Amino acid sequence: MSDATDTHCPYCALQCGMGLRAAEGPVPVSVVERPSFPVNQGALCGKGANAAAVLAPGARLTTPLVRQDGVLRPAGWPEALGRIAEAVGATAEAYGRDAVGVFGGGGLTNEKAYALGKFARVVLGTSAIDYNGRFCMSSAAAGGIRAFGLDRGLPFPVADIPFAGCVVLVGSNPAETMPPFVRYLRELRENGGTLIVVDPRRTRTAELADLHLAPRPGTDLALALGMLHLVVAEGRTDEEFIELRTTGWEQTRAAAMAHWPEHVEAVTGVPLPQLRSAAMMFCDASSAMVLTARGPEQQAKGTDTVSAWINLCLATGNAGRPYAGYGCLTGQGNGQGGREHGQKADQLPGYRKLDDPAARAHVAAVWGVDPDSLPGPGRSAYELLESLGGEVRSLLLMGSNPVVSAPRSAHVAERLRALDFLAVSDVVLSETAELADVVLPVTQWAEETGTMTNLEGRVILRRKAVDAPGGVRSDLEVLHELAALLGRPEGFPTDPELVFEELRRASAGGVADYAGISYERIAAEDGVFWPCPAEEHPGTPRLFLDRFATPDGRARFTPVQHRPAAEEPDAEFPVRLTTGRVLAQYQSGAQTRRVDALNDAAPGAFVELHPALAERLGVREGDRVAVVSRRGRTVTPARLTTAIRPDTVFMPFHWPGEGNANLHTNPALDPVSRMPEFKACAVRLEAVAP
Ligand code: SF4
Repeated sequence: MSDATDTHCPYCALQCGMGLRAAEGPVPVSVVERPSFPVNQGALCGKGANAAAVLAPGARLTTPLVRQDGVLRPAGWPEALGRIAEAVGATAEAYGRDAVGVFGGGGLTNEKAYALGKFARVVLGTSAIDYNGRFCMSSAAAGGIRAFGLDRGLPFPVADIPFAGCVVLVGSNPAETMPPFVRYLRELRENGGTLIVVDPRRTRTAELADLHLAPRPGTDLALALGMLHLVVAEGRTDEEFIELRTTGWEQTRAAAMAHWPEHVEAVTGVPLPQLRSAAMMFCDASSAMVLTARGPEQQAKGTDTVSAWINLCLATGNAGRPYAGYGCLTGQGNGQGGREHGQKADQLPGYRKLDDPAARAHVAAVWGVDPDSLPGPGRSAYELLESLGGEVRSLLLMGSNPVVSAPRSAHVAERLRALDFLAVSDVVLSETAELADVVLPVTQWAEETGTMTNLEGRVILRRKAVDAPGGVRSDLEVLHELAALLGRPEGFPTDPELVFEELRRASAGGVADYAGISYERIAAEDGVFWPCPAEEHPGTPRLFLDRFATPDGRARFTPVQHRPAAEEPDAEFPVRLTTGRVLAQYQSGAQTRRVDALNDAAPGAFVELHPALAERLGVREGDRVAVVSRRGRTVTPARLTTAIRPDTVFMPFHWPGEGNANLHTNPALDPVSRMPEFKACAVRLEAVAP
């Protein structure tokens, strides 16, 4: 029997299984393989393999900090928590309850996300709560609900992917973001299936594909419409499926037929023969999947873009049957669970709507409060950040680093500075924590137990493997203590299993129903798929096989139209900028930039550009280049590659300061999901004298 503790990686939504074994030295555990977990079968990327390094005392916070005379100084917990309680109380009294804001994170466990949402609504009584997952998957969630009545990243296990006849990956680069996932793509091809990758860059993932389409950033919607047009024109729709299992086809068909392939070629820059090949590969396959990630989703038309790809699936009968369908490859570790349990501005636990009277009554009964006392829906993440220093005067921020990760990040930092009071609870002194009035050092993945829900909707258990350093408390303890100081000594347990038991009751009967899932069961089965309404229920790895989660059981087509990016290139800013991740760093880099092995592999920001563009600018490999947008100026080394379109440049977004890609990204919001347009904005490049 292994002496390692079975747990999961602290980073992305694949939530790879790993073991942690006690070790000597400053890092108290070492990571070992755990081949029994089916998703990754022992494989880990460099981030997971080096995850233990962030547990070393030098890498993380171990004492609360409070601001005095402009600088952060160490403090005891009573002083730090007392300052927070006093400040939020004063703000609520002076400006009203909605002047106290809460900002959560997609990396928080289900228990923390649930407790944070409850804390905001019950203790603070504020509507001003949202979380950074809004920046991750909200367009896919909105598109999924619109079509299927339910949002779960993947409606099937990742193990189904190799058995599809064709997979289209849109704006996703798992070879860098979640490398163990790539084995499913390799197996797909070994089984005779075809892989199509849609990405403005010829990424490591695109190198694996049978066909790579490289559209201009912000034109994925037009591409999907063009494929659907060709499918219809060739008479390759699945009329029986459309008739029996969908609604709304005629309007969608008409919208697609108005987008002529020649026009799509002009808009996207994808040659017509490639567009035609993609459409026919999709139709010819025995079954087909479309998997999107942030590329098409992080647009001001992200929801419509997702709908366009779902329409393609529905028109060809590729949904609601095995080895077919639409799915989203969620990014953050608990991007899925984080959006199900109430830290989103418009939602209550169980994926219930905050403005639904029945949902309010159910959750209020579990919480032991009057439904009328619960606030209504609040602002989306960027709108909440935008309101800081205005309508929102004090903010409690947990597990997020918007100074690096939010769009128009310099402006967001200004808004944070404009607050009367900012409290941050985090593992490390992130760039956002540096601005805080109070910083709370909290436990992290290997130091606490809690559940996460991976990109498949599989609820898994992260187990505690090591004690946290003295001076560190869990987020659940923080919420318990603050609730008590603010007059609610009951209702915020510090034991995660007790929180999960309440979460089960709160989610019961909802879309994301966890009622039948227990710690004991997750441990025995190594994960349980929601919905799981009863202990004797097996869980639901595959959704929609009999019916979709709409009132009439049918999937809904949505007619959509292409529209330009909110900011198109012009004479002043003639180049498109798109952003993304690199293999060795994760999200804002707050943790991974503190790991030597990862920093050696990916030490800093850069801008990737085509040699033809570089020649016009007089830039050579490694030269420092200024990227200038309407929102800021960054200076980073140039990386020249023919793998990117000549009209587009790419920057990874993991670094702060003069290399922060999000200085440029556009906060234009999707009207449905309120997702900012991270993936397409206009810039100019300037050579910088050495
Ligand atoms: Fe961790 Fe994701 Fe890497 Fe797996 S793929 S080891 S979950 S970062």
